Amino acid sequence: MPPEEREQTLGRLEASGLRGRGGASFEVHRKWRAVMAEDGVPFVVANGGEGEPGSIKDRFIMRTRTKDVLEGLKIAIDTLGAERGYVYLKGSFAEEEKRFSEAILTLGLSSLVSLHRGDDTYVGGEETALLESIEGRVAWPRPKPPRPSAVGLFGRPTLVQNVDTLARVPEAIRAGADFALRDTLTVTLWGDVRRPGACQVPVGRTLRSVIEQEGGGAVGTIGMVFPNGAQSMPLSAAQLDVALHPTSLGALGSGLGTASILVLDEATTPHSMVESIARFFERESCGQCPPCALGTVNLRQLVTGDRPPTIRLTPQAAMREAASFMAIHGYCSHGRAGASAVTKLFALWQDEVMGHLRGERGPAGARDRDPFAPGSSERQALEAFLQGI
Ligand code: SF4
Repeated sequence: MPPEEREQTLGRLEASGLRGRGGASFEVHRKWRAVMAEDGVPFVVANGGEGEPGSIKDRFIMRTRTKDVLEGLKIAIDTLGAERGYVYLKGSFAEEEKRFSEAILTLGLSSLVSLHRGDDTYVGGEETALLESIEGRVAWPRPKPPRPSAVGLFGRPTLVQNVDTLARVPEAIRAGADFALRDTLTVTLWGDVRRPGACQVPVGRTLRSVIEQEGGGAVGTIGMVFPNGAQSMPLSAAQLDVALHPTSLGALGSGLGTASILVLDEATTPHSMVESIARFFERESCGQCPPCALGTVNLRQLVTGDRPPTIRLTPQAAMREAASFMAIHGYCSHGRAGASAVTKLFALWQDEVMGHLRGERGPAGARDRDPFAPGSSERQALEAFLQGI
């Protein structure tokens, strides 16, 4: 692609305001320019390694907009002057691999794009872990710096871009400054909703209208809603008129991230949700960094009562101690995210958690839940949705 055409593409991406949809919300044109500023012929990787429990938005995009993802990947390869592109998938994503294989043939991209299926771990979708996997090693995150934009796949500058983001690139370039008017958000709705699944909604819709119109409404009376799965603070039923936007949700102390919207009824016990989230962070630590490997175990043991508080420390102080240890160092953000999520939830529901640890019984009809567990009924409902598309 001639230099002036590349600059035109980047200019239209900048005008569109397109940001990444993998959770970090980084401006796309800046990410592309950062790779182009490095020496060496780059690679481009489409990240389809979605592993967050309760998020199927990327798999939904890969199944319903396969060609848009590949078109966006091709534009990135051409604009960056990359040698080739890769589509990275979880090991169990056989259906997505099949659809990409067919679309690659149809679009004549066989010589330019390769498919790679890694493992099924959560951290395997982290941007440097997937590079390790493509290079033939275990999908564990790398220490940073250097960032992949400087030293990525096979030591070359590499753009790693989420598949949901890439699917929007062609439209963003066509629409330029008008893109924001027609942009949508891909969300996952799960838990106590009548129609669990994934869908695209106009940016700025309220959480309440998405639950009612796209999810068919709640099953039972809503008790709490996590707008970003295990990584967000829950909202109460009275807070659902907030727009699905990072700034609006941030003002309520929550977040949007990958928009994995977990709806739970009022019978759900808060202590079981703290445990479910603590178990998720413990289970998915890859174990490379002691603060994360040990800290996630400590936090889970503190909230489940498997680690009695010491004479010296109250449970609250022990929790703070474990979290501050986890903030020290990590090759990826998993340990820090776990410390933040578990300690904030513990602070929010301290009375309920401590009451449960003392053996107090909850109100009549109260129900313990573990939606983030592999094979939970809530996650099975999402898998059933995917079977239908
Ligand atoms: S922070 Fe945790 S998940 Fe991330 S690399 Fe270290 S041990 Fe693995």
